[in-house]
Amino acid sequence: APTIGVFALQGDVREHLRMLETLGVKAIGVRRPAELDAVDGLVVPGGESTTMAKLARTFELLEPLRDRIKRGMPTFGTCAGMILLADRIEDGSLGQETFGGLDITVRRNAFGRQVDSFEGELTIRGVEGQVHAVFIRAPWVESVGPGVEVLGQVEVAEGASRIVAVRQGPLMATSFHPEVGGDTRIHELFVDLVRDSTAGTTVHSTS
Ligand code: GLN
Repeated sequence: APTIGVFALQGDVREHLRMLETLGVKAIGVRRPAELDAVDGLVVPGGESTTMAKLARTFELLEPLRDRIKRGMPTFGTCAGMILLADRIEDGSLGQETFGGLDITVRRNAFGRQVDSFEGELTIRGVEGQVHAVFIRAPWVESVGPGVEVLGQVEVAEGASRIVAVRQGPLMATSFHPEVGGDTRIHELFVDLVRDSTAGTTVHSTS
C-alpha cells in the first residue's frame, strides 16, 4: 500500500488522516523534510493558507515541497490547500507565497461575507451521483491553464458557475472539504492517482 502524507504544520489534519486510513493506505503527518521523503503522495488540508506557507518556510519544508511537486508527486489540496497548490492568487493576496504546481488562478474567500460557509450538492467528474460539499471561507478558481481539467463547478447565480474542483496530471484540488463527513469518494480519486504513479505509470491530464 502507498504511504500518503498530510501536511501537518497547520489545518484540519486529523480528518484527512482518518479518511486515508479508512481507504487502507498508510497515512502520516508531514512536519519535516524527512517525513516528506517517506511519502508517495501528499494531502494539503484546509486551514489558513498564509500561516501554512509561513510555517512551511520556517520548518524548511517550502523548497522541498516545491521540488517534490515539480518532480511529479501526487498532491491533493483542499480549500487552503488548493490556494497553496495554485500558481497564482488573485488580488488581495499580493506577495503571498504558494507551493505552486497547478496552472490556476484562485481567489481567496471568494464567496463573500454573506455566504462565508455553505453546503451543497455537486457533480464531480469521476464520481457517480452527487457529492455533498462543505465550503468554509472557500476560494474559487478564477481561471485555468490549458492542461487543467475542471472536475466540478458550483452555481453562484442564475447561469453563472465557478470552478471548485480541478485536476492537472497528478495534482488535484477542491475548494470544499471532502474530509468532512463520511463520503470517501473524492479521496479515493486521489488514492488512485497515487497508486497509478507508484505503479510507474505516468499520469496525464485527460482534458
Ligand atoms: N480562507 C482560508 C484561506 O484563505 C481557507 C479556508 C479553509 O481552508 N477552510 O487560507
